[in-house]
Amino acid sequence: MRRIDQPKFSAADVFSTCISKVRKKDLKKRFESIIPDIESAEKSYKKLAEKSMLYTFSDDLCIRRNVTKEEMKAVYTQRMANSGGPGYEIYNLLKRGTFNRTCPICGQRKVSTLDHYLPKASYPSVVVTPLNLIPACPECNKMKLDDAAHTSEEETLHPYFDDLGSDRFLFAEVQNGEPPVINFFIDPPKTWDEKLAQKVKNHFISFELNLLYSMQAIDDIIGQAGFWYQLNKEDLKNQLSFQAESRRMAHPNSWQTAFYEGMSQDDWFCEKGFKKFIE
Ligand SMILES: [Zn+2]
Repeated sequence: MRRIDQPKFSAADVFSTCISKVRKKDLKKRFESIIPDIESAEKSYKKLAEKSMLYTFSDDLCIRRNVTKEEMKAVYTQRMANSGGPGYEIYNLLKRGTFNRTCPICGQRKVSTLDHYLPKASYPSVVVTPLNLIPACPECNKMKLDDAAHTSEEETLHPYFDDLGSDRFLFAEVQNGEPPVINFFIDPPKTWDEKLAQKVKNHFISFELNLLYSMQAIDDIIGQAGFWYQLNKEDLKNQLSFQAESRRMAHPNSWQTAFYEGMSQDDWFCEKGFKKFIE
C-alpha cells in the first residue's frame, strides 16, 4: 500500500510505439485512426482517478470505432508485454517504477509484471495507457478481479494517485490463542473521509494483506527469537519500540512498523508470548 510516481510516458506515444511495426495496412490504418481516442481516454482517466471516481469510467471505443477488443488486447500482450514487441522497452521501464522493486499494492513482494488497474478485457482504450499499468507482484496481479469496481466501495488503492500521507492506519495485535496469531488491521485516522477509509479497508481485504503480513511477522519472530530469549521483558519492549521507530521513519504503514509497535506495547508478548510461536 504505497504511492509511486506517475510514469512520464504519454498514452499516445506508447500506443504509437506499440503499433509501429504492424504490417497489415488495414489494421495499421485503423489503429492510427484511434490515436486521438487514446489521448482523450487518458485525459478522462486522469481526471476521474484524481477524484477517486474511476469506477465511473466508461469505455465505448470498440462500439464507436472500427477496432475490436481482441485487437486492442493484442496490442498489449503481443506488442508491449512480449519481448519481441516494439513496446517492450517501455514495459520494462514501467516495471522499474518502484523503489527497490517492491510491489506497491502489497508493499512486500517483488514486482514481476504490470497490472491493469482497469482490466484490459473491458477497457480497450486504456490497454497500454501508462497510468493504468501498475507494477505488481504475481500474487497481487492474480488476486485482482477481472471485473472492475462499479461503486466507490469496491475500489482498491491506485498507487499513482492515492496519497495516504504519513498518518498511521495499519496496526497489529497479538491474539493469545492456540496457536497464537499476529493480527493486522486498519484503523483509519479521524481526518480521513469515509470514502478513503473504505477504499483502504477494501484494498487490505481484497489483497489478503492480513494473511501475508501475519506470515511475515511469524517468520520474523522465529528469526529473532534467539536474541529475544536473552532479554528481559522491559529490554525487549525497548528493543521492539526502537525497531518500530526506525521502521516508521522508512514507511509509516509497513507491516514491520505496525508489528514492532504493537508487540512493543504488549506485556504478555514480551514476557513469554513470543516463545509460544516457536514451541
Ligand atoms: Zn504485491
